[in-house]
Amino acid sequence: MTTEELLQFDREHVWHPYTSTIDPLPVYPVAGAEGVNIILADGRRLIDGMSSWWAAVHGYNHPVLNAAAKKQMDKMSHIMFGGITHEPAVELAQKLLAILPQEMEKIFFADSGSVAVEVAMKMAIQYWQSEGKTGKHAFATIRSGYHGDTWHAMSVCDPVTGMHGIFAGSLPVQYFIPQPSVKFNEEWNEDAMTPLKDLLKQHADDIAALILEPIVQGAGGMYFYSPTFLVRAKELCEQYNVLLIFDEIATGFGRTGKLFAWEHAGVVPDIMCIGKALTGGYLTLSATLTTTRVATTICSGEAGCFMHGPTFMGNPLACAIASASVSLLLESGWKEKVSAIEAQLRKELAPAQSFENVKEVRVLGAIGVIEMKEPVNMAILQRRFVETGIWVRPFGRLVYLMPPFIIRPEELTILTSGVLRCIKK
Ligand SMILES: *Cc1c(COP(=O)(O)O)cnc(C)c1O
Repeated sequence: MTTEELLQFDREHVWHPYTSTIDPLPVYPVAGAEGVNIILADGRRLIDGMSSWWAAVHGYNHPVLNAAAKKQMDKMSHIMFGGITHEPAVELAQKLLAILPQEMEKIFFADSGSVAVEVAMKMAIQYWQSEGKTGKHAFATIRSGYHGDTWHAMSVCDPVTGMHGIFAGSLPVQYFIPQPSVKFNEEWNEDAMTPLKDLLKQHADDIAALILEPIVQGAGGMYFYSPTFLVRAKELCEQYNVLLIFDEIATGFGRTGKLFAWEHAGVVPDIMCIGKALTGGYLTLSATLTTTRVATTICSGEAGCFMHGPTFMGNPLACAIASASVSLLLESGWKEKVSAIEAQLRKELAPAQSFENVKEVRVLGAIGVIEMKEPVNMAILQRRFVETGIWVRPFGRLVYLMPPFIIRPEELTILTSGVLRCIKK
């Protein structure tokens, strides 16, 4: 198949994320990827600034992860999880429970981030049902959040940038409070809690859980907010009998400078979702974790169990790779790497702050964000980035970098200087 044939068939038949089939944006054929390089079909090499949407923290084609995949594949790639267990799942569970809050004692493996969120929401509903509080079936969340594209996950995404308008009428209606007004490094102001306080005071009887992305809101706006918000939110949830769900699907595995974002505040939720970097970007796998108290309550209810069980639950191949990825991360000196990336992003993105078309530059951990004043022209800017030799995928007004942790300083400089050059008018 020539590249031309590939592109033509793709254009005519293959759907891409959030893309029109009538007037699709251009796609770039990729032949391979290794380390921080994405290799295009025409041989050009791009430095990856996206980690394939938070996932490929060790870069691509990593020998350790490749070996783990091959080893597991020769034993078994998949086996049903009903009535069966296996070492890859149990070993991964052990490794994860050791690095997550110690209150998290029960783990549910799911197939994608969105499903982990659905599972978390179902857990919250079943929990209150078992408690005899059947009226608690809605969810509270903060604006500008992103929790995935499936039905109930979508219902707690930002109502404006999410898909609420299009699916209004068929989507469950949830309770939204404004984005936490105090930014990550700003001085705390107690007024930031008023919306949540008012909401819970009025509607706690309807609300099963408060779900949010701790510290870093990802795809909904790339916004970093004060850890104190989480401390106060937890207090309010306890006071008003509302469960707290942390969606750490994007923030997990070191990206924000802590292994998981809850550590910025020391606040432990009742239910937690992880995904994305879990397999180092190799396969789709996620997990929802909860406390013994929540799990026991769920399973003491009418159903007698938690009502969910995906076909590919605990997929051995994904678990084996995830297990290798977690060990690799812990042995890799991720913390030093992430803080070096953070310092370099701060220094090298700072000049953009004075650009006429830039609203704000913000950096946390290995995440660098340039918020533009106007939405970018994706097709034009994407082409410019590729011509510059970098892979950066902006959305809306946001141009952001979250490179693999293995990136070297000189490669990161190519990314940051390339971005600055391309966005400068
Ligand atoms: C990406 C993401 C999801 C959805 O994960 P998928 O694997 O795409 O279904 C959910 N929550 C957060 C915070 C995410 O960043």
